Amino acid sequence: MTTKLLYGNLIAKEIRNEISKIIEKEILNKDKRIPHLGIILTGNNSSSITYVNNKIKECKNIGIKYSLIHLPINSLENELLEEIKKMNKNPHIDGFIVQFPLEKNINQDKIILSINPKKDVDGFHPENFGKMALDIKTFFPATALGILTLLERYKIKISGKYTVIIGRSRIVGRPISILMSRKSNFGNSTVTLTHSKTPNIEYYTKQADIIIVAVGIPGFLKGEMIKKGAIVIDVGIHSNEKKILGDVDFYSVYGKASYLTPVPGGVGPMTRVMLLKNTLMAALNNRQKDK
Ligand code: NAP
Repeated sequence: MTTKLLYGNLIAKEIRNEISKIIEKEILNKDKRIPHLGIILTGNNSSSITYVNNKIKECKNIGIKYSLIHLPINSLENELLEEIKKMNKNPHIDGFIVQFPLEKNINQDKIILSINPKKDVDGFHPENFGKMALDIKTFFPATALGILTLLERYKIKISGKYTVIIGRSRIVGRPISILMSRKSNFGNSTVTLTHSKTPNIEYYTKQADIIIVAVGIPGFLKGEMIKKGAIVIDVGIHSNEKKILGDVDFYSVYGKASYLTPVPGGVGPMTRVMLLKNTLMAALNNRQKDK
């Protein structure tokens, strides 16, 4: 079977152009402040530094202003809370993110709860997470929104389809399971959310029309675990000196799936551009209030 690749990098480029046009029309032409994203990074985790650098590059490409606060390794929880307080109060910051994972001495829940939900462009605060579950307009977590936008732009219908998600993390698996099962846009799929305690995952994946793999194990989903014609979305990113791999065993799935996201160039660029989209949404909300 011919497998079509879902090029997130091409769709992300399309969306970047759309965002630039909106910034020009709704902000620059009306002499309003350009959108401003805050980023708080803690410690020296190399993956986190790479993710943050990529986000900064995206901001620069598109003309979104950014401010980076980098707290050194072994920073205290209070120091991070203090920076969050400043971002919450700063009227020039439209939205901000705290890059995860945090160091072990910092309580992640406390950090998420301290972010002003109106500036929570990652969509992790319970107020935004709750709104997402209740079909109320809000910021959606970037990876989940990125995957659904990718499917939408390729005109792949999810309504009525059976979706199996592997991995239930707060940032990927769980939000996507909520969005895809909603009775609204991006929804109406029948969703099974699997995880490390699910026995016999192949039982589910073999029946699935759509499989989303966010398990954090390179090559986890093999061709023999899917049915012919399934749509496979690979969220995983693993890099070694030689190459970047995903959570899907690309070569055994390619030729059996109808659609497949490549790694790199699939979900990653979509995630990054959705953060910009959320930042634009926060900025437009704020400029509305400035009137
Ligand atoms: P995570 O927080 O480590 O969660 C992994 C999930 O997989 C957990 O729910 C875990 O189950 C489940 N799991 C682990 N082993 C399993 C097994 N043998 N069988 C079934 N389920 C299993 O990971 P994450 O943050 O969601 O990230 C997943 C992957 O996506 C990583 O490679 C990460 O780098 C990548 N990622 C990519 C992007 C992007 O933009 N492309 C964005 C975010 C993350 P339990 O809940 O039971 O522990």
